[in-house]
Amino acid sequence: MKKSLIIGSALALMACSCSKKENMDDFDYTADRFADIEVLRYQVPGFEDLSLDQKLLVYYLQEAALWGRDILWAQNCEANLAVRSALEQIYANYDGDRDSADFKAFETYVKQVWFGNGLHHHYSMDKFVPAFSEAFFTEQAGKAGIDEETLAVVKEAIFNPDLYAKRVNQADGVDLITTSACDFYAPGITQAEVEAFYAAMKDTTDLTPISYGLNSRIERDADGKLVENFYRVGGLYSPAIEKIVENLEKAMQYAENDTQRLTIQQLIDYYRSGDLRKFDEYSITWAGDTASQVDFVNGFIESYGDPLGMKGSWESIVNFKNLEASARTETISANAQWFEDHSPVDPRFRKDKVKGVSAKVITAAILAGDAYPATPIGINLPNSNWIRAAHGSKSVTIENITEAYDMASHGNGFNEEFVIDEPTRELLEQYLFVTDNLHTDLHECLGHGSGQLLPGVDPDALKAHGSTLEEARADLFALYYLADPKLVELGLLDNPEAYKAEYYKYILNGMMTQLMRIEPGKDVEEAHMRNRKLIAEWAYEHGKADNVIELVKIDGKTYVKINDYDKLRSLFGELLAEIQRIKSEGDYEAGRALVEQYAVKVDPAIHKEVLDRYAKLNIAPYKGFVNPVYELVTDKDGNITDVKVTYGEDYAEQMLRYSRDYSALGVR
Ligand code: ZN
Repeated sequence: MKKSLIIGSALALMACSCSKKENMDDFDYTADRFADIEVLRYQVPGFEDLSLDQKLLVYYLQEAALWGRDILWAQNCEANLAVRSALEQIYANYDGDRDSADFKAFETYVKQVWFGNGLHHHYSMDKFVPAFSEAFFTEQAGKAGIDEETLAVVKEAIFNPDLYAKRVNQADGVDLITTSACDFYAPGITQAEVEAFYAAMKDTTDLTPISYGLNSRIERDADGKLVENFYRVGGLYSPAIEKIVENLEKAMQYAENDTQRLTIQQLIDYYRSGDLRKFDEYSITWAGDTASQVDFVNGFIESYGDPLGMKGSWESIVNFKNLEASARTETISANAQWFEDHSPVDPRFRKDKVKGVSAKVITAAILAGDAYPATPIGINLPNSNWIRAAHGSKSVTIENITEAYDMASHGNGFNEEFVIDEPTRELLEQYLFVTDNLHTDLHECLGHGSGQLLPGVDPDALKAHGSTLEEARADLFALYYLADPKLVELGLLDNPEAYKAEYYKYILNGMMTQLMRIEPGKDVEEAHMRNRKLIAEWAYEHGKADNVIELVKIDGKTYVKINDYDKLRSLFGELLAEIQRIKSEGDYEAGRALVEQYAVKVDPAIHKEVLDRYAKLNIAPYKGFVNPVYELVTDKDGNITDVKVTYGEDYAEQMLRYSRDYSALGVR
């Protein structure tokens, strides 16, 4: 099973702590809105507190990140760079009515192509459908001076629905390579040929295998035999890779320590040679560098863009450790044994010795390649299984990105529509961001690692229901302790009532609002969603006698009302004890009964109501980001004295600037 980037659920409705909120209120989180996309801005809090050397390290690493942009565009589809160039020329030269239907449709299309890093939707992988006429496009292309030959290629790419129809095809029973528009394989090469090519190359007895095929395009040589054209200096995409290397060399001068310097040197060696053994050496050093505050991902990393799952799409994220937030997870981990000893489960099912996991919290400074504009909220790398097992991996959450999602959700009308009353909305405004982060920390650092199986119990005894029940166990552990005075004592919360914000949101989400992601008539299937429904519905049912949770109707709309938070905490403790028992004893039948009774079936009336109310809010299903802008500050003698970060750039402006300043590959 491949470990990879954690994909964000843009579901959260969170607030932030008061002190933080002060300086964020005047920050404009929304950069653009078109089609099914909302583009946000994120802040880089703490950048000013870095040393000048660290800032310069970030600066050159983000330059290295931006220079890789065209590689990804080229990998995504052979026509992408030519299409982008034509679109941008027309966009820049247009002098007609900007309110005309054709231009508006054209502008939306350009923004979609920027967002998808090419002709295809970043999520569905389908080719965008232009809503402007071919005649309009031809006329504007003529005015912009685009030559006949280029125009013919670009028009075919945009307007022929059968050409490049899907970027990555995963359908059964067809040749996945010839039916996918991505450019990891030269035209005319078949899936069977590629599979045979790699099968012959792979040494299955190798315990430390390279990531075969990660950094090459498969082509045919003069004799018609398949060969790998490697992405490296002097090879494929060389002009862009040379710029990446040049900036990595500059960054290396400001490395925080020898390990980090070696990490960057090994990455350069890999880019120069294209040798995947060198990529492994780099990955091992990178995974072992836990001391540096500044960190980065840069390379051919994730393979979702290849229907065969081998070829790495280029991406980069530059970041630095959020010391304050990481202190939070360290405090929790340091007290892991106390939490285990006081958990409301049968003592036979507790661990005598428990070790908390310390997850790092980071601040992103730049997003690039396949991590831009749509981006993950966490990173879990390297991907190589043997390196993970032998040398460990890094798992981080990107808190300034989750924060931007949350802040942008303020004012989208969600709370006003679904939260029962003003006092509850205020509670959420004040404490949901803090308690939601703590909930995640408790879930990840302690929840999954708590408890033990009785001797002889099969870890897979819960079978298909195992992951739902495991997520429920971790969530319940977190929910139960969120209300514990221990958190105030440890300084993690400043108000013993704060937990109520997370409790309210959890029940609301579990019983109602998460249903907006389910199509009418369908059951809940995904494990995390099942777990949330299980917990919320079980607590509702078992609290009925005491009226703990109520569903009330106001003006024909359903609202969650929580009457007794104290009792709700006891219910969470009770269910935690039961699910821990089920896991510890391997009681499949009891686990199955819980899941089937509470986690799967959707009440069609409440489902329809949620979908209708949600639709009226017009919230974009997909979100992404523009980056901040970094500039070197020099004194009158030309010495660098600082690096300045600004946030004012808008979406189109940024895309046009990147195309102007960071294009190394031409239109191919
Ligand atoms: Zn989990």
